[in-house]
Amino acid sequence: MGKKILLDKINIPGIKTYEVYRQNGGYASVEKALKTMQPDEITEEVKTSGLRGRGGAGFPVGLKWSFIDKKSGNPRHLVCNADESEPGTFKDRFLMEYIPHLLIEGMITSSYALGAHLSYIYIRGEYMWVYKILERAIKEAYDAGWLGQNILGTDYHLDLHVHCGAGAYICGEETALIESLEGKRGNPRIKPPFPAVSGLWKNPTVVNNVESIANVPWIVMNSGEEYAKIGVGRSTGTKLISASGHVKNPGVYEIEMGITVEEFINSDEYLGGMIDDRPIKALIPGGSSVPILPAHLIYKTATGEDRLMTYESLADGGFATGSSMGSGGFIVYNDTACIVRNTWNFARFYAHESCGQCSPCREGTGWMEKVLHRIETGTGNMEDIDLLWDIQGKIEGNTICPLGDAAAWPVAAAIRHFREEFEYHILFPEKIKNRDHYVAEPFESVKHLISKQTI
Ligand code: SF4
Repeated sequence: MGKKILLDKINIPGIKTYEVYRQNGGYASVEKALKTMQPDEITEEVKTSGLRGRGGAGFPVGLKWSFIDKKSGNPRHLVCNADESEPGTFKDRFLMEYIPHLLIEGMITSSYALGAHLSYIYIRGEYMWVYKILERAIKEAYDAGWLGQNILGTDYHLDLHVHCGAGAYICGEETALIESLEGKRGNPRIKPPFPAVSGLWKNPTVVNNVESIANVPWIVMNSGEEYAKIGVGRSTGTKLISASGHVKNPGVYEIEMGITVEEFINSDEYLGGMIDDRPIKALIPGGSSVPILPAHLIYKTATGEDRLMTYESLADGGFATGSSMGSGGFIVYNDTACIVRNTWNFARFYAHESCGQCSPCREGTGWMEKVLHRIETGTGNMEDIDLLWDIQGKIEGNTICPLGDAAAWPVAAAIRHFREEFEYHILFPEKIKNRDHYVAEPFESVKHLISKQTI
């Protein structure tokens, strides 16, 4: 069994409640931090740990904290991004639902480090029952004296609120989240200025993901140096992975960074292999926005190295032959999966979720959805594949926020690795129209059929 930092207490009956959480060492990091550490010492420990943001971008957490403007004298805020909406990702929900006080403990310790006295947890609207769990846990923390005035008899005070979003994926982008928290439409802001300088109500603000903040209590208790010993290279610590798709044991797992993808998929400790032992066809390792990997690039990189569960190894080869750790939404496909249908499904999602501020994203995501739908339903033509390639290329890098890239990358990767499947949809429309939508022709026979056609 690998090292557990976040889920080590998850099987203790009643750990969701304050009493049981406290009896099992909960809130010790707040005591240690407030009574024995200066705020900047905590930031240094987090820097030393090498902890990287667990929401998707992987930016070093301690470095992000160090950017917060302390000179202006304006109030500072910590905002926890619990707007977990990336298709395939459900690991933050698991943490908040089953061990909510870990997040609250992390929020207090992290707020103290940042000099914040008013902090927020912004949770997606669809997680209403988790919102209620957090509300109850926050009340328990207030009642026990961990929140409010003079915490532990010190002069540190903190108010913590949980705020429910209204169901927009874009509010997972930190500046859109801040706009929404201010009561406005969740449109991303142009950066700079970055939130660390001008964030919530123009005050210096740090926005961190749930899992990132939940790691802080362990780092405070055990040191950044100990944390950095777990994992490989710049991928330190553990990582929560939410696994779904055609595997025997889907679910949420805490892994030590650095195990191989093959072990994660096939060992009984984790996903237990493929359902009915069918062949693996593709993998999306980090949520719907990261590039899909074809079978031959899942267990090995293009240079023949073992593919590891690390930021670096999953990205090895760039987007030509690699992908990304992303948000840890790990989706496994067997040979019956239709990649065109899957790509269209994601494109439909991004077209719906575009906030509409910038033309390449607003128009491009809609075009991609329409063209993909045409191909998926057997009414496309060969030029459509090049058109798709052209559209995604015009979106990528040309938008205010990363949603444009998130919409473009899955389309590019699907065409790059599964072009024959797109051609098959176009060349054999009758097969497509008469098929079971959920069972695709095996990719090898698709390639064989295409190889016999004159295109
Ligand atoms: Fe809005 Fe899309 Fe532009 Fe982001 S990229 S600001 S979601 S239109």
